[in-house]
Amino acid sequence: MLTVGVDVGGTSIKSALISVEEGRYTILQSFSTPTQGDKGAEIIVGNIVKAIKHFDLSKVDKIGVATAGTVDWDSGIVTYATDALMGFTGLRLSEVLTKKLGTKVTVVNDAVGALVAECFCGAGVGYERVMMLTLGTGLGAGLLVDRRLDEGSVVDTRLGHYALYPNGDRVCFCGKRGCAECYVSATGLKKSAATGDLREVFSNKSGKYTKALKGFFEDFTKVVKIASEQYHPDLILVGGGVVELGDLWWKRWSEPCERQISAKLRRATLGNAAGVTGAVYCALNGVFQRQ
Ligand SMILES: [Zn+2]
Repeated sequence: MLTVGVDVGGTSIKSALISVEEGRYTILQSFSTPTQGDKGAEIIVGNIVKAIKHFDLSKVDKIGVATAGTVDWDSGIVTYATDALMGFTGLRLSEVLTKKLGTKVTVVNDAVGALVAECFCGAGVGYERVMMLTLGTGLGAGLLVDRRLDEGSVVDTRLGHYALYPNGDRVCFCGKRGCAECYVSATGLKKSAATGDLREVFSNKSGKYTKALKGFFEDFTKVVKIASEQYHPDLILVGGGVVELGDLWWKRWSEPCERQISAKLRRATLGNAAGVTGAVYCALNGVFQRQ
């Protein structure tokens, strides 16, 4: 079966033509285009359509979209999105895309998509209760519970908006101050390091970024502890763009963590493919969301 999966982030929209055979997901072609999230819903939707139509849809059976923001699965409405996706709050995304493409389009939250993909096709296979933290433009945090053979329930924990520093110095897209994702995300680290080049930051050859890195690792450890204490996962997967650079920092950070925590930690394995794969998995299977 041929499918198209789409991953809508604050910076770019990734899409992939994915073949699904006997539970195996194989990416045949992929594509990426800027989101232009500050340009408003119409432009963003146009970019999503472009990312889907990049592929020959004549033989495609299913289309799944994973997007930043909170999504009601039944209706495919984006119930909340930050200004990273301007005008997305309240948007009937599933309906709008279905109308434009003439094929039913399923919409889920991007952290949920990545979690589902890792749990059923990646590093989370075999675990009962899995938390996935996604460090990208923001901080996504999904929890898989009630796992059965090929389904389970997903809870969007919104841990990214946990008040890590109540009344802190950074204002979140959500309007509150000191949310975890203002610090524990690619955006947060770039801000602390005052550069957009995270490879340079993690390499830290001149020692210039020591303070920014120390703060980032401390904050990240706090978030992992909160995730562990509040949700009791068997496994905490860490994914997202920051983890793509994990070879530069993962060991250095995770090994000194308390043993109870480091034993639960694992890097996600699907990388960039997690969002698009999860979007398709959710479109095809009965994984459902619990608020
Ligand atoms: Zn927030």
